Amino acid sequence: MSDKRIYLDYASTTPVDSRVLKAMQPYFAEKFGNPGSIHSFGQEAIAAVDKSRETIAKAIGAKFDEIVFTSSATEANNLALRGVASQLKTKNLKLVPRIVVSAIEHESILETAKDLEKQGVEVIYIPVDKNGLIDLKKLEKSLTKNTVLVSIIYANNEIGVIQDIPKIAKIIRNSKDTNKLSGVMINHNTASYPLLHTDATQAFQYLDCNVDKLGVDLMTISSHKIYGPKGAGALYIRGQGDLNTRNLELKTILTGGGQEFGMRSGTENVPAIVGFASAVEIAAQNRNKEAKRVQALRDYFFGRLRKTYPKIELNGDAKNRLPNNLNIYFNGFAAEQLIIKLDLAGVAVSAGSACTARSLEPSYVLNALGYPNARAKSSLRITLGRLTTKKELDKVLTILTEVLK
Ligand code: PMP
Repeated sequence: MSDKRIYLDYASTTPVDSRVLKAMQPYFAEKFGNPGSIHSFGQEAIAAVDKSRETIAKAIGAKFDEIVFTSSATEANNLALRGVASQLKTKNLKLVPRIVVSAIEHESILETAKDLEKQGVEVIYIPVDKNGLIDLKKLEKSLTKNTVLVSIIYANNEIGVIQDIPKIAKIIRNSKDTNKLSGVMINHNTASYPLLHTDATQAFQYLDCNVDKLGVDLMTISSHKIYGPKGAGALYIRGQGDLNTRNLELKTILTGGGQEFGMRSGTENVPAIVGFASAVEIAAQNRNKEAKRVQALRDYFFGRLRKTYPKIELNGDAKNRLPNNLNIYFNGFAAEQLIIKLDLAGVAVSAGSACTARSLEPSYVLNALGYPNARAKSSLRITLGRLTTKKELDKVLTILTEVLK
């Protein structure tokens, strides 16, 4: 039976690519060993994990031992923030550490930051402008002597707006150079706080995520947003694993058997990791071509929609934006009603992120852009992906004409 439903919620999750599925298959039953075991079953498993680590490292211009596998981007984000904060506690510093985040981070950053605030960490939330771009002046001002970590989302999950991470990295570097920051020395190396983390979960599919070009110390990626399986994510940690070049230390948040260089205990999810690496490889290979393809489709769709409904408005910057993302204000319509009507007609879209979709709270991201709740509650996120075709979009346009009557 063919599935005639149309999926336009790729920012929420993606279907597993058939090549990825094939790569994973042997690791469920046939090559099921525990990567920690010494015997041949274990060796087979650890070889697969290591090969996957190598693939992912290569795709982001990192070293093999700078990749730590986690269960999700949520866990990687937690490890980045909590890892830095708890490492500091062991140093018995006299100052209150400061973490700087943007107002439009994913919940896995914002909620973690709030939790750390309760534990005595100072958190600064950098506002964004009407287009969703962060205020770089405020960011620069926030870099005080006690700032240990800056975490800025590369591309936002609701509005797809892309932040200028290399520029942010430069601002941080300059602030270190001018010696305005005393720069608490980490370890024996010259690197100093503040560290820069980016959540590249949404970005990886469409943007170059080379860690040196971005200038980041820490980076989060996730498998299920790039046509890999759910249950796998990774945190890039600059210098991790090499005692001579290591310039930052994180404290693990999961203690146990010491897997993942001691950074993330727990038996590795071998099939998911293998699938994740396969998805990374495919995404990196086809990135530019696929970005152009979905952008052309998206612009065609939005153009036609705007012709029929000139009153609709785009939320978030039109230019600095993921090529597959639309977040549209439908004045006079309740987003929830639209989602239900579209779903009944076989079209899947969302309002804001899937993580908060079940709550009735208006999007904090749209609020941060300065939009009132009314606009946030009348906005839909439509995200295209690898299986999206023009034919599908034409059908959605027809369905929308009915739904918007
Ligand atoms: N960060 C961003 C930007 C995301 O879009 C998501 C998923 N919505 C996450 C983190 C969390 O990812 P995961 O589902 O892998 O925990």
